Amino acid sequence: MVEAAHVRTRIAPSPTGQAHVGTAYAALFNYAFARRAGGQFLIRIEDTDRDRFVAGAEEEIYATLKWLGLSWDEGPDVGGACGPYRQSERLAVYREHVDRLVSSGAAYPCFCTSERLESMRMAQRQTGRPPGYDGTCRGLNPADAARRVGAKEPHVVRLRVPKEEATVFQDLLRGEIRIENHTIDDQVLLKTDGFPTYHLAVVVDDRLMRITHILRGEEWISSVPKHVLLYRVFGWVVPVMCHLPLLRNADRSKVSKRKNPTSLAWYRDRGYLPEAMVNFLGLMGYSMSDGRERFSLEEFVASFDPTRICLGGPVFDLAKLGWLNGSVLRDLPQEVLARRLREAGQVPAGMTDALLAGVLPIVRERIQTLPEFAPMTEFLVSRPKPDAAALIPKKRDAAGTAAVLRALREAYGMLDAGRWTPDALAEASARVEVASGWKKGDLYMVARLAVTGKPVTPPILESMVLLGRDETLARLERAVATLLPPTR
Ligand code: GLU
Repeated sequence: MVEAAHVRTRIAPSPTGQAHVGTAYAALFNYAFARRAGGQFLIRIEDTDRDRFVAGAEEEIYATLKWLGLSWDEGPDVGGACGPYRQSERLAVYREHVDRLVSSGAAYPCFCTSERLESMRMAQRQTGRPPGYDGTCRGLNPADAARRVGAKEPHVVRLRVPKEEATVFQDLLRGEIRIENHTIDDQVLLKTDGFPTYHLAVVVDDRLMRITHILRGEEWISSVPKHVLLYRVFGWVVPVMCHLPLLRNADRSKVSKRKNPTSLAWYRDRGYLPEAMVNFLGLMGYSMSDGRERFSLEEFVASFDPTRICLGGPVFDLAKLGWLNGSVLRDLPQEVLARRLREAGQVPAGMTDALLAGVLPIVRERIQTLPEFAPMTEFLVSRPKPDAAALIPKKRDAAGTAAVLRALREAYGMLDAGRWTPDALAEASARVEVASGWKKGDLYMVARLAVTGKPVTPPILESMVLLGRDETLARLERAVATLLPPTR
């Protein structure tokens, strides 16, 4: 079925807005398939819908796919032997191909005005007939039609669908799909403005760019019969088709902005790690043969087999992504994690590399994404504002709390800098616990709030060690002072 021995895949995004997670999903699977086969993966920009064109969208697609670690062999930005790779730069190619189809009778010019088409549609709706072009210009005498085209009468070009036949094609995951042609509209191939429609452009380009396998979202299946008819009238072999299951919201509806962020940049800008995002997308409708849920891009590529794609709608589950992100984050080598935090601007101002290296081992277990790091470690570089009300545990009062903090200050103060270790601090705390009769949980919470200003922090004794003896003692003293304002 494949003409070229060499596998070539592509994605064909339209630059109509923010780079979509669905684009990354298709890109990942096409990339993996091509790389595994030692073939090529390319990007083509489908920008023929000028009304929906968004400036900058193309660049965002490249930037976000690169962020994920994907690369492509051909495309508008990298060039290649089958360019140009932007459809708006290929208008002459489509025109030439459409002319061929008109000459052979496989397509025909249609001069129906938009008003006429509108009243046709209205009549179809009113009489309950199925929508579709009624074929008014289908039977025009070709010589007359050519004359009108020559006289520059506005027109589109339509595909002449052989209505009495059926169109059959294979989907790699679904097997044979058969569509009765009378249900297929005489599709517009070239618009009045000379721009091709998606259907013409995608077929011509996939052919000229020697695409052997098309992996794309299942929302395109209904277009395939038109494409197959086009391949047939051009006399071309149909590439292998593989329609990927739609990504879904938790309620099974098609993944949408309303229920889930769908912009790739959103995830990048919130500190999700590209490794986690790739891993997450690689689990959408796919499972590794050994059932493993954590894998790298390289591992995904090395074992990718499209026949393992499962058609049950994969759910875009942010809790799962969060879990994967936390897990990837914990596994990153410490220097890499430190660099990522710096690059993402998520290290508190003033934190030295040494301090960052010291705190990472005790924090990385406690965060799922990079932006959680700074709020949790800020206390190491800036003193918390003491808040008396927040310091006092339930059923305790200011005087009692101050007494316990003062006892901690004294017990810790007996440790010199050389013995300023978590173990020694734990022993000192235990002595205060016994002497005060406070519960351990309350005692540590008060110490934590006094030293860090927050109820959730890295382990408190390790934090005190990082903070240093003098600073810890000073913060305890400040907390006592807050609880017991000096009497005049
Ligand atoms: N331009 C279409 C899109 O935006 C391409 C569909 C295809 O892959 O054929 O997804």
